[in-house]
Amino acid sequence: MRTPIQSLTEKLNNNSYFMKRDDLIPFSFGGNKVRKAQLFFKEIEDKEFDCVVTYGSSSSNHCRIVANMAAIEGIPCYIISPNEISKQTSNSKMMLLFGAKVIHCSVKKVKETIERTLNELKEAGLDPYFIEGGGHGNIGTQAYVDAYEEILKFEKINNLCFDYIFHASGTGTTQAGLVCGHLLNNDSKEIVGISNARRNPQGSQVVLESVNRYLQSKSMTPVLKEEINFIDDYVVEGYGSSNREILATIKETIYHEGIPLDATYTGKAYWGMKKYIEANKIVNKNILFIHTGGTPLYFDDLEEILND
Ligand SMILES: *Cc1c(COP(=O)(O)O)cnc(C)c1O
Repeated sequence: MRTPIQSLTEKLNNNSYFMKRDDLIPFSFGGNKVRKAQLFFKEIEDKEFDCVVTYGSSSSNHCRIVANMAAIEGIPCYIISPNEISKQTSNSKMMLLFGAKVIHCSVKKVKETIERTLNELKEAGLDPYFIEGGGHGNIGTQAYVDAYEEILKFEKINNLCFDYIFHASGTGTTQAGLVCGHLLNNDSKEIVGISNARRNPQGSQVVLESVNRYLQSKSMTPVLKEEINFIDDYVVEGYGSSNREILATIKETIYHEGIPLDATYTGKAYWGMKKYIEANKIVNKNILFIHTGGTPLYFDDLEEILND
């Protein structure tokens, strides 16, 4: 699944900017959750599980993708969704469109609701497959080790070298995959995850644990926290929050590049990347931003972007 890498018109600090368009993966509006879910569903098919359980908020791209793949596979999909953050979105409407059974509960009860649902399905004679929120875990990490290999191939063909890779970091799985790709290849790229919600030290710790869990599965030596660059300076007020600068960045990017970003993930990360580049005086470098998807969220944000 080789997604396009295009150059951008962005000129900040005389760097050259490129974007890897994982939002253009040709399945259900694309995004990083497709890469991960394709690997999960391979396991579901291989091991003949007959239903799938996962969790996420109403704006979760992961839940949209899993629900769509389950529909195609013809197996029931159960989504545990915390009702504190359950405003209707394009993603939550699509979950229903794909026939997913959405089970609401309070944030505090997510864990026990997942366990109860899994037990009920097993008691009913089914064999459920559980996917962590956001597609977290070694399989999800593998998806971005694979993406990293695509980036290296692009560099070779085009005879250029990216100094930095920026992207929106949430559960940390995407970042863990990229960092593992970097470690496996022993190259000099710097991977910078711009957090969309989590704060440090917990945010980096989760990425580090994912990296080391993956390395361990490959019998490789674990790394230290210095390898993880998880930036929490641009979280604003937490998950889903934005500000006028983020909305302005989204407006500029669709206007000048023709590329939709959203306020929860990619728009916040692209804005954060620019702030980070200014703050750290990064100049004359080749910079790759990974567009991790979330196109339905762009449409949810459009009214606010327009009115800003
Ligand atoms: C889930 C998501 C992320 C974060 O990916 P993680 O692997 O959870 O860190 C970034 N961007 C978009 C659009 C997402 O849906």
